[in-house]
Amino acid sequence: MSGSSISNLNVFSNRDLPLADQPGSMYFFFMKAVLNRELCVGCGLCEENMPEIFKIGEFTAELRTDSVPEALTEKLQNTAEDCPTGAISISEKSGGS
Ligand code: SF4
Repeated sequence: MSGSSISNLNVFSNRDLPLADQPGSMYFFFMKAVLNRELCVGCGLCEENMPEIFKIGEFTAELRTDSVPEALTEKLQNTAEDCPTGAISISEKSGGS
């Protein structure tokens, strides 16, 4: 075999990179608040702790948004721990633009 063939090379374009590695990309991590409304008793503690995320609906809490900025992670964890019925849980998710 002589010479080199480009077909043997792995050629990556920016489109092949994970979003976080693309030049100029705004990439951030945030947490996802998960609310189990079947467990919620509507005590209002979560809304009191984090009104930017939770609000009390007719009978139970509701999420204003499930995307919680990383900076509020500790506050969300505390809110989940304070929930008397364990209705709040947290999962990680990521996003970018
Ligand atoms: S703290 Fe828990 S039980 Fe109380 S309203 Fe919020 S989710 Fe429901």
